[in-house]
Amino acid sequence: KEKLLDVRNLTISFHTYAGEVAAIRNVDFHLYKGEVIAIVGESGSGKSVSTQAILGLTPIPPGEIKSGEIYFKCEDLLKYDERAMSKICGSRISMIFQDPMTSLNPTMTVGTQIREVLHQHTNLSRRASKERAIELMKLVGIPDPETRIHQYPHQFSGGMRQRVMIAIAMANRPEILIADEPTTALDVTIQSQIFRLIKELRTQFGTAIILITHDLGVVAGTADRVVVMYAGKVMEEGATDQIYYNPRHPYTAGLLKSVPSLANHEDQKLRTIDGVPPFLLNIPPGCPFVDRCDYALRICKEQEPPYYYYGANSRVFCWLYHEQVAEQLQRFKEIE
Ligand code: SF4
Ligand code: MG
Repeated sequence: KEKLLDVRNLTISFHTYAGEVAAIRNVDFHLYKGEVIAIVGESGSGKSVSTQAILGLTPIPPGEIKSGEIYFKCEDLLKYDERAMSKICGSRISMIFQDPMTSLNPTMTVGTQIREVLHQHTNLSRRASKERAIELMKLVGIPDPETRIHQYPHQFSGGMRQRVMIAIAMANRPEILIADEPTTALDVTIQSQIFRLIKELRTQFGTAIILITHDLGVVAGTADRVVVMYAGKVMEEGATDQIYYNPRHPYTAGLLKSVPSLANHEDQKLRTIDGVPPFLLNIPPGCPFVDRCDYALRICKEQEPPYYYYGANSRVFCWLYHEQVAEQLQRFKEIE
């Protein structure tokens, strides 16, 4: 399989009055051609920061990329200047955000906004771009596009506005679409319609997709692979089925217990994970999850675990998977 995107060892800090805050530390993940991955984590886990860097956006407050590489088809995007990046953004890699109202211009018709991105990256005639805009609106399931192309964002419902954003993001047939909490502001029925649309785009155009979400529940039918983040680090990565049915990391297991459908299914009480993530200004040595973990060992407080690998796309960041620990746990179970 060809790696379309390969993020390696990415570390990004914020500079604040209180000092330097590590937003993400040594983050690695990759995306194969035509694949859908989900990056899952609570707010502040670094999932947005990790992907914004792909588009050359450094986070606010002033962020700094301390180390890492972001390979897009073998070229390191972090070495690109602004001009080179602007050619890639919106054409080969594009992004949709949680709240389309803040990304759409309220004073311009939807049609003008779709055509603007077309003109930025192609030299279509005015007539051709109008036709293409109508085609795109049809593609994303906006009814009566010939009329609606002349309307303004406030004349669209939340779900329809998100469809407009997707039309804009897909305008130049990107190879990668990054969707950052694309349905958080929408109700459940509309959410699943948007996910269905995203999946269709992948099937129809082979667009690779990075779906960013705090909700493991929405990932099941959409993503091929899941990357779980916590406190600026990748905790676990694996095929979606493995993450759902055989989560390795205690944090992933905790997240799953807070997914209503799954919790009911296993006849478990819906619960949330106790405690709060560590304040990133003062990351303690050891595992960042240690204060919330029911399985913590003594070493967890002292030393960060390494990654334990179960294949190229499957790993866990937890001491429980150290050979000796795993053996002892097994023996302990047998005694019980
Ligand atoms: Fe829990 Fe230790 Fe694993 Fe961290 S390394 S998740 S504290 S068992
Ligand atoms: Mg975010």
